[in-house]
Amino acid sequence: KLSKRLETVAKFVPTGAVIADIGSDHAYLPCYLIHKGIASYAIAGEVVKGPFESAVGQVQKEDLTEKITVRLADGLAAVEAADHVDTITIAGMGGPLIVSILEKHPSSLLGVTRLILQPNIHAKVIREWALANNWAILDEEILEEDDKIYEILVLQRGPMELSASEFLFGPKLMLRKSPAFIKKWTREKENWQRVLLSIEEAEQTPEIEEKRAELIGQLKLVEGVL
Ligand code: SAM
Repeated sequence: KLSKRLETVAKFVPTGAVIADIGSDHAYLPCYLIHKGIASYAIAGEVVKGPFESAVGQVQKEDLTEKITVRLADGLAAVEAADHVDTITIAGMGGPLIVSILEKHPSSLLGVTRLILQPNIHAKVIREWALANNWAILDEEILEEDDKIYEILVLQRGPMELSASEFLFGPKLMLRKSPAFIKKWTREKENWQRVLLSIEEAEQTPEIEEKRAELIGQLKLVEGVL
């Protein structure tokens, strides 16, 4: 059975999509998408040999070799023009790693109309990358599983405008204020308050002063949204 996290990623894949799942590990997501008749074809990309072999094994075991191609490649190098991939999923990594994958092989994105990204941390850098690269937020989701909170960003091409709060919290998520959202940002707020207290006792240097101002700014934003 697929995790709730990956099931939520799958929910945003359009029916009939040709997908590439980058950093696919066991290729659970592409296997699920093909079995459910959601994706019509899938590429599973992995840069590490062990997970790549797990993906190959899983696809064989589920008898899906005609519908899923597993490639050993760095990020979007797994996507070839002849694949006609229209949807890319990247899940289970930090926001900065997801952004570095998106930036490294820009030509692989040419025919892509939807990105479904699930950063474990730092979703903000993905919103910044999206805005700078003419991708707009179509939808967002936040969910809790095994005491961890995950965000999912669904992007389509187009311009958008975001405020400082929207970059940090997500424009859709901060309107909906779901229980997982409240929990995540209450936790973050308490962390920031703790750090702020500890640096208030530290020696004042320009770096500490800068960090302090940043924390105070973030605390203002979080207090505005909770
Ligand atoms: N996507 C799956 C999920 O969400 O459950 C697996 C997540 S796993 C924590 C991250 C995977 O990404 C690892 O298998 C790792 O080898 C792979 N990975 C990391 N950097 C990558 C890159 N540049 N290109 C392809 N795969 C990468």
